[in-house]
Amino acid sequence: MVARVTLEIALRKEFDYLIPAELEGQVEIGTRVKVPFGARQVMGVVTGLAEHSPVTNLRPILKVLGTPGLITPKVLDLARWIARYYCCPVETALKSVLPEAVRREEAGWQERLFVHLLPVVGEMPKLTRRQSDVYNVIEEWREISLQELLRLTGTTTDTVRRLEDKGLVRIAPQISERDPYGRETILPTEPLALNPEQKAALDAICAAMDKVQNGGSPGAGSLPPSDTKSDDISDAQKAHERIPTFLLHGVTGSGKTEVYLQAIAYALERGFGAIVLVPEISLTPQTVERFKARFSSGRLRTLVAVLHSHLSAGERHDEWHKIRQGRARIVIGARSAVFAPVDPLGLIIVDEEHEHSYKQEEAPRYHARDVAVVRGQRERAVVVLGSATPSMESYYNARRGKYVLLELPTRVDDRRLPVVRVVDMRREAKGDRGVPIFSQMLYEAILKRLERKEQTILFLNRRGYSTSLQCMKCGYVAGCPNCSVALTYHRTTQQLCCHICGYQAVAPSVCPKSDCRNPAIRYAGMGTQRVEEKLAHLFPHARIQRMDSDVLTRKQEYRRILGDFRTGKIDILVGTQMIAKGLHFPNVTLVGIIYADLSLHIPDFRAGERTFQLLTQVSGRAGRGDVEGEVVVQSFTPFHPAVQYARRHDYVGFYEQEIEFRQELKYPPVSRIALITLLGRNEDKVRFTANHVRRELDRVLEECKDRIIAGPAPAPLSRAETYYRHQIMIRTRHMTVASERLAKLIQDLTLPEDVRMVVDIDPVNLA
Ligand code: ADP
Ligand code: ZN
Repeated sequence: MVARVTLEIALRKEFDYLIPAELEGQVEIGTRVKVPFGARQVMGVVTGLAEHSPVTNLRPILKVLGTPGLITPKVLDLARWIARYYCCPVETALKSVLPEAVRREEAGWQERLFVHLLPVVGEMPKLTRRQSDVYNVIEEWREISLQELLRLTGTTTDTVRRLEDKGLVRIAPQISERDPYGRETILPTEPLALNPEQKAALDAICAAMDKVQNGGSPGAGSLPPSDTKSDDISDAQKAHERIPTFLLHGVTGSGKTEVYLQAIAYALERGFGAIVLVPEISLTPQTVERFKARFSSGRLRTLVAVLHSHLSAGERHDEWHKIRQGRARIVIGARSAVFAPVDPLGLIIVDEEHEHSYKQEEAPRYHARDVAVVRGQRERAVVVLGSATPSMESYYNARRGKYVLLELPTRVDDRRLPVVRVVDMRREAKGDRGVPIFSQMLYEAILKRLERKEQTILFLNRRGYSTSLQCMKCGYVAGCPNCSVALTYHRTTQQLCCHICGYQAVAPSVCPKSDCRNPAIRYAGMGTQRVEEKLAHLFPHARIQRMDSDVLTRKQEYRRILGDFRTGKIDILVGTQMIAKGLHFPNVTLVGIIYADLSLHIPDFRAGERTFQLLTQVSGRAGRGDVEGEVVVQSFTPFHPAVQYARRHDYVGFYEQEIEFRQELKYPPVSRIALITLLGRNEDKVRFTANHVRRELDRVLEECKDRIIAGPAPAPLSRAETYYRHQIMIRTRHMTVASERLAKLIQDLTLPEDVRMVVDIDPVNLA
């Protein structure tokens, strides 16, 4: 027998190996093996089996590794799809599909020694004072880890061993799980009575589960052939019955989460598990708790596994196995949770589906929302995408009938959406002192909240103190030596920082140009630090807290700040996008957006869409309690459609004018994009290589008749971390064909040693 193996060194190629007699029967598709490769031994995964190979002189597999069955055919199938569509080696895709901690199994189960109390048989043996003290502690705990016991009593292992000798306790290893939220007590919740819109949405989702999952027999669905070719990732598997994908468009506070919870309950009821994807940023204890609470008791009781990027390797390993063993049937997590080994899988929910953090910015460059849709099709699981501001892509799919649109147009209990007032900042300029940070309207609104003991959120999507350091005399701007961006001034540390590469320098007090030396250097533009400073000056008695990634260097900080805000210890919270989403604070009645235009000026065709989403999401934080909310938006382009439609809470209006622009320029969602970036330290070489790649692309993409290829041109971020960057953009409706051609080109192309090529399919970041 012969095994086809994809090697971990990711060569975009598979190799055949002989299965030696002694390993016969142990090697299956998905088995991890060690094989010889040249003079080395490397790890790999078996992707196929055959009687014979066209290659002669095959070398044998050396060893079978790890727990069998980690990589199931389903997992391998999904990894293959990712490799093909996102143009990367299968091994690279497998790296995301199976967490490193599970593949390596270094972390293992944390086996710890536990001390258990035993019933006393007959007379109580005589104990020394020391032994007696320790025994009393054990008696109280009944069961305690040895480590913990030693810490509590300040004794040695020997003393505990003496107790064991006397038959009073038993010391034995026991698996102890690392539960990152272990120490919290959670009060169970009951399903809420749904309003008619919620009920209609839930019914549609449940009916779809009934239909596709064959009347409730888990695992009855069959896998489609893995080589399905399709021009569109959301309609793979056409021969079979289509599994509906739902788009749940519900305004902020419309009760989407309650619909998710009840849909999950329905899946569990019928023997299926569920995955809930949320953006990393909204994976707060608050969100996790809502899911744990609902399923912490009662008939449908199950563990809820949590997956996010801050887990240690050990925690990740534990969570993964908890899912694999079926003890946790609900998984809530960020991007990579889309690969959680829930089986059988009945439901995948992608909350805030428009979020860009679902796209992985390193290989494999997959989009978790799109992978969710594909996985749903393949495993016959119903997929629900939810958002108050759906992506243009998803809404376009809903309009074309590919997704089923479900709508929750009002907030629960008919709470009103906040009133949004737009301030024209051009009229706020005060003589030669320029434009103030706070308009009169925002100032008064904050003051009113302080008097009424209500809370305020202020949003500015830029950290630091000022955007740049400029010399007013010679025009010098402090730039990063490694990147093509200006340095940001951080007042708290008196440093100039690069937000791309992290470069830091001491802020100068005079212009550093040797022929200038002007002391009148200025800090232009503003960041959250400056807003915070100004606030403290204007409202000396207010309790103000800033929240951005400069503050949140430690994991607990985030929880502490949110906790303080919830309990009313903070009056005004100033922050970046970190505070824009998912938070639910009933006492927040004012949201101020300091500079709405910031995201309009990024060189990206999605700038308008992003601004609309951000404004709507931030506004949604206001008025979630009994008092009506108010939003003040400060803008220099108050009549921009993104600002105006957000002001009116008019998603459809925004979509309709935006889609016209996309159609005209053939941008997504009417086409798909592949972005090819060439990077290197020698700019001439990068440019030369980019030109060469462009010519090759014209040749290999001949078949894609609708293709539009633009570039090469310097990327918007033309230099980053000392690397020059040139880009080529491909637009086509037939991306599956295009990425196949691209993969072949990557394999055939020999690039200069010091130039790298990155292919990003469906990019969300064009910089
Ligand atoms: P969304 O996810 O759409 O922003 P949430 O699910 O967070 O909205 O709901 C907002 C608030 O309304 C939550 O406190 C939730 O418990 C409550 N809620 C949701 N559905 C109902 C309902 N049917 N009846 C009463 N309260 C509800
Ligand atoms: Zn830099």
